[in-house]
Amino acid sequence: MADTATAQGFEPPALGEPYLLTPGPLTTAYSVKQAMLKDWGSWDGDFRAMTADMRRRLLALTGDRKSEYDCVPLQGSGSYCVEAMLGSFVPKDGKVLVLANGAYGLRAAQTMKYLGRAHTLIDKGDYLPPRGDEVGAALDADPAITHVLAIHCETSSGILNPVPEIAEVVKAKGRKLLVDSMSAFGAVPLDVNDIGYEAMVSSANKCIEGVPGFGFVIAKKSALEAAKGNSHSLSLDVHAQWAAMEKTGQWRFTPPTHVVAAFLEALKMHEAEGGVAGRGARYTRNRDVMVAGMRELGFETLLSDRWLSPIIVTFFCPAHEKFVFNRFYELMKDKGFIIYPGKLTVVDSFRVGCIGRMDEHVMRRVVEAAKQSLDEMGVDTAAPPATAIAERAKLAA
Ligand SMILES: *Cc1c(COP(=O)(O)O)cnc(C)c1O
Repeated sequence: MADTATAQGFEPPALGEPYLLTPGPLTTAYSVKQAMLKDWGSWDGDFRAMTADMRRRLLALTGDRKSEYDCVPLQGSGSYCVEAMLGSFVPKDGKVLVLANGAYGLRAAQTMKYLGRAHTLIDKGDYLPPRGDEVGAALDADPAITHVLAIHCETSSGILNPVPEIAEVVKAKGRKLLVDSMSAFGAVPLDVNDIGYEAMVSSANKCIEGVPGFGFVIAKKSALEAAKGNSHSLSLDVHAQWAAMEKTGQWRFTPPTHVVAAFLEALKMHEAEGGVAGRGARYTRNRDVMVAGMRELGFETLLSDRWLSPIIVTFFCPAHEKFVFNRFYELMKDKGFIIYPGKLTVVDSFRVGCIGRMDEHVMRRVVEAAKQSLDEMGVDTAAPPATAIAERAKLAA
C-alpha cells in the first residue's frame, strides 16, 4: 500500500490496511486517529471547550445566519440519534409520514412502532425516489400528520432523494420536516435557508470522516424548547441533553471523549478542504472516476446519473456464470479494498463507497483491482443480467 500517497498528499490508511469503501465506518486520516492518543476528563474545562467548539463548527455548516438552530451531540450510533429525534420532536399525539425507499427509511418506521406513536409510510421499494407530488397528496389525505421524515441519501441504494422538492411541499402544507442526513451531511448541501427543517441528524463516522461513537441533532431552538417532556427515553431525550449542555457545557452521561477529539480534528480538515463544497467536490470526483472506470469494464449502475449520490454507488452483479460475489469481495480485499454487499431484494448487487479519506487516484486503483479480480475469476464481461436491466427500467417509467 506504500504507493498510495497521492498528488494531494493523501496518506494510505496504514501500512497493510485496506481502504474501506463503505459508508461508515470509513477510512480516516492518520491525524484523526492520532488525535485519540490522549485521555480527557469529561467534566474538565478542556473537554468542555472541545464540545463547545464542535457544536459551533457543526452549526457553521448549516447556513444558519439568524442563530435559529442549535446542535446537540448524543452518544451512540446514528440510529440512536434517529430514535432520539423521533422520540423528542414528535409529540406523543403527533403523527409522522415516513418516506422510505430502502433500509434506513424502513428502520425509521420500525422505530416509530417501538415508540408506539402514530405514523404512516410511503414505501417506494428498493430505490424509487419519493416525489413532492405524492407527499403532497398524502398530506392532503391525512390532516393528522404533523411531521414528515425524509432520508437525504438512502445509503442502501445510494440514491440522493429529492429533499428540496419534499421540503417545499411539507412547508406549503404547514407540516414539519425531519431529515436523516446521516450519510450526506457535510458533503451534500442541506442549507437551512432552503430546506428549513425542524431537525436533522447525522453522525461522526460519515462525511465529516471521524470515527464512530456519537451522532448529533441539529434543530430549531424553538423545536428544542417545545421538545421538553416528549421523549420516551431518558438517555435519548434530546431536550434534556441540550438543556444540560447549555447549563453546564457537559454531556449528561459519559461522553466518547476520544471520539470527540478525533471528530474535532476531522472538522478542521473538513474546513481546510473547503467545507461542504470542497468535500462534496472530492466525493463527486471519486464517484465520477470510479463509475466511469467500472462502466468501462461492463458494470452497470442501478441508478441513472440523475439519482446517483456522491456517497455510495450500487452496481449490479455481472451475469457471467463464473462471477461469485464472495470471491470477488475476497479478491478485492487482497488488493487493499473492502467493498460492500448490496441491499436490493430483486437482483444481486454490490456497493462501492466514495466517502472517506481517499481521492480519485485511489479510485483509479479500485477500478484496476476490479479488472484484475474479474480476470482472476475468468469473467470476461461484467454486464448484468436482463432482469437487472428490466428492474432499472422502472426508474424511467
Ligand atoms: C449510517 C446511517 C444511519 C445510521 O446507522 P448506524 O449503523 O446506526 O450508524 C442512518 N441512516 C442512514 C441514511 C445512514 O446512512
